[in-house]
This record gives sequence, structure tokens and C-alpha cells, in this order.
Amino acid sequence: MDYYSTHITKLIEELASLPGVGAKTAARLAFHIINMPKQRVESLSNAIISAKENVRYCKECYTLTDSELCPICASSKRNHKVIMVVENTRDLAAYEKTQKFDGVYHVLHGAISPTLGIGPADIKLKELIKRLEGDIDEVIIATNSTLEGETTAMYISRLIKPTGIKVSRIASGVPVGGDLEYIDEVTLLRALEGRVQL
Ligand code: ZN
Repeated sequence: MDYYSTHITKLIEELASLPGVGAKTAARLAFHIINMPKQRVESLSNAIISAKENVRYCKECYTLTDSELCPICASSKRNHKVIMVVENTRDLAAYEKTQKFDGVYHVLHGAISPTLGIGPADIKLKELIKRLEGDIDEVIIATNSTLEGETTAMYISRLIKPTGIKVSRIASGVPVGGDLEYIDEVTLLRALEGRVQL
């Protein structure tokens, strides 16, 4: 039975389908939106639609960006011979916040997980291997220290080893099971500086 108008129920359902939003929060947000001035609601829905329509993968590193090349890949101030491999764009942002890494990135958009049925072909891995045909000095693997992140790191290092390119893994200063984006900058920096060659 519908306690609310069908429109409100639909809005609650949509919001509740988002990650981290439970039924209660969804209801709270829905009523908040209903009470917002129409202009604010339009601005919110326009932001969602234009983000979806205009955001794309950088053709070099596959981070989410507005143009063909992201600002990092387009910058001549970055060292394009050092690639840091991260699981997602939020992890990239976490490292960028430290302002201490001057290389470039490669965003996998996931990690290998046999239990979830996510294999090497499901993440941006062949795109990484393709980049290694260029002039690359080092690949720093900065996947999370979860089981999936470690599995992915191991897989990547095995792929790269035969090419002779230096491969390193960020130090275990990053807590096991920790999502990179929630880790403070000091810990990230230590992890980066204390990276070990694989
Ligand atoms: Zn890029």
C-alpha cells in the first residue's frame, strides 16, 4: 500500500537505489526535495543529467573528465613516464590532494574479484598494457589493500615484469581493507614514499 503519493513513492524508490542510501534517508531526501524551491530542484536534476551526458573517460588514463584528455594527462608539468595505477577516480583525487605526486595515473575502474565474477577483461587493464608500449620508467600500483586490490596488484606486476619496466607497490602503511579515499594525506604520502619494488 502507498502511504504517500505515487510520485513521492517513486522518488523514494529511486533515491533508495543509490549506494549508501537506506529507506529512511531516501524518504528524508524525498521530502526535502519536495519542499525545495522549484528552481533548486531543476538545478539539481540538471546537474545530474549534464554530468551523465558530458563526463567521459580520458583517452589516456581513463579517469572521468570533461574533455578528450584530463588536465593531468594534458599537463606538460607532469612526468608522463611514471604511471600510478588506481582503482577509481576517487582514489586519483585522494592522491592529487597530497600534491606530492607529479606523475600520471591509470584508472582501472574496478579490481579483479573472482568471487564477484570480475576478471581482468572487465577493468581497464589492456588499456594500461597498451600505454606501456610507450616510454615508461615506472608503474606504481596503488590499488586498495583489500583482497581484490592485492589480487589485481599481483596480476598487474606479473604482466609488467617481462617488459623490464620497474614495477612498485605502495607501502602497507595503507590499512588493510582501507578505501584509499578515506585515508588521510600523511598516510597516503608515506605509502607512496615507502613503495617497494616488485
Ligand atoms: Zn588522463
